[in-house]
Formats: sequence, structure tokens, C-alpha cells
Amino acid sequence: MYHCYSPGRFLRLLVLDAVIFSVCALCFLVGKTVMTFAGSISGQPVRLPVIMYHSVGGNVPSEYVVTPVQLEDDLRWLKDHGYTSVTARQICSYAGGHGSLPDKPVLITLDDGFYSSLSVLLPLLEKYDMYAVVSVVGKYTEVNAAADPHNTLYSYLTWEDILELAESGRVEIGNHTYDMHSLSPRRGCSQTAGESDEDYTASFREDTAAMQYALHEHTGMMPFVFAYPFGSVSPAGLPVLREEGILMTLTCREQVNTLTRDPGCLYGIGRINRSGLLSTEEYMSKIEE
Ligand SMILES: [Zn+2]
Repeated sequence: MYHCYSPGRFLRLLVLDAVIFSVCALCFLVGKTVMTFAGSISGQPVRLPVIMYHSVGGNVPSEYVVTPVQLEDDLRWLKDHGYTSVTARQICSYAGGHGSLPDKPVLITLDDGFYSSLSVLLPLLEKYDMYAVVSVVGKYTEVNAAADPHNTLYSYLTWEDILELAESGRVEIGNHTYDMHSLSPRRGCSQTAGESDEDYTASFREDTAAMQYALHEHTGMMPFVFAYPFGSVSPAGLPVLREEGILMTLTCREQVNTLTRDPGCLYGIGRINRSGLLSTEEYMSKIEE
């Protein structure tokens, strides 16, 4: 049987087709969104690059110094390329089985506790709505910063500066040892050749506890991130760090991390040093590899 369509009926069928197509497209998009969300909460492994800075200041960059302009270029690049700056707390929650992480998370870290973390970094974190972990050395704060505070090029953070950073909500303070940031008599906080596990853990426990105590005393917060000086890791020290409430350790192993819903994956996080000798594009190509 042949149907003879009137123009009005043809138009109605056309509208009906458009409505059916729109509903199907909407279902597809909603389904895709639900699947993506389900993926993130069900614990898909998450790729996490971690950037390691040290000092920020001046206009002469080096392997461990970036200029303020370079730092701002980096933050802008991350934003423009879809990265979301996350906190160490968010990462710990994810690994502990809670919450989700955004697409393309990135963790920004700065070691050694330079005053520039307050004078240069914090305003930029606020400008770009980002976060960072600043890991400080107790002795640098008590001796160096107290003697020579507030020069952006070389000073270290005082306890008051550290409190200001912690209270900003933009910076988490990490433990970078109290007095184990040297190359002698041991490399950082690593075990020396011939040192027994017992002697080593006693020394390491004393230093770690001193720094945890000092940071708690001056900020009211207990650090849960530990950055190994020079990236020197000794396995015998891990139980000490766990006892002291450390949930995440940062190394200098140049690799992008894969996070899972296993808190154990946070011990030994790799970081890629941001050498000031590279352009932003050259450096960022490393975190995208
Ligand atoms: Zn360091």
C-alpha cells in the first residue's frame, strides 16, 4: 500500500525524527558521562605527573632554580593543556578508596623551604587556582632563616612563613628531614654502608620525629608527606615513616606515576625535576611522555 504524504504530515514526521534523534544522542552522551564517572570511582589507575621545583627567583635560571617568569609560564601551560592541580590530601584519599580525581591531575612540589615559596609561589597559586606541597628542612628554618630572613634569592622560610603558607589553604607542608639534608656523614637520610638496621632506624626515627614535632608545634598540623633529600631512599626507613604518620613519600625518580586504590602506591612517588635550563615546552614534554 502506498501512502500519500501531505506537506503538513511530512513536516510532522520530520520533526518526530529530529526529536527521536535528539533523545538518542542525549542518551548516548549521558551514558558516556555515567560510564566515565563510574570509571573514576571504581578505581581506574590514574596517571599522575609530579613536578619538582626548588628555588624560584632572580633572572638567572639553573638546574635547580627557575625564574618567576618560568614558574608562571609553567602554571599557565598546565592550565591551558587541561591539567588540574591536586593536593596531596586528594591523592591520599583516592589511594585510600575515597573520592575521585579530575582528568589530568598534576602535583606541584617544591623542596628545601625557600622563602620564594611564600613570596613568589603563593601569589601565583592563588592567581591560577592551584596547590603545592612545600617540603622544608628544620635546620634550615631554625638556623639559616632566623639569621637571614626574607631575601627571595637565597633565604629560607621562617616558622612564621611556614605557618602562613599552611594557613593559606594552597600549600601543604612536607617533612624534608630535620637535619639530614647533607651529603656527609650519610647521603641525605639513607643508611650508610655497614650501619646496622637497628642503629639506622634509631637515628632516622629521632630526626623524623623531631621534624614532625617541630612542624606540629609551629603550624598545628601533622605532616603526612615526606620528601627524601637527594632522592636517597633506604627501605629500612619506611616503617619509621609509617609510624610517624607519613602517607606519601616523594623521590627524585624521574617517572610519571600510576595511582591505584592502594595506599601502598604512594610510597616512592616519582618526580621530574624542573630544570630552569629548559623552556616550559621542553620540560612539559617530559611529563606528557
Ligand atoms: Zn632537598
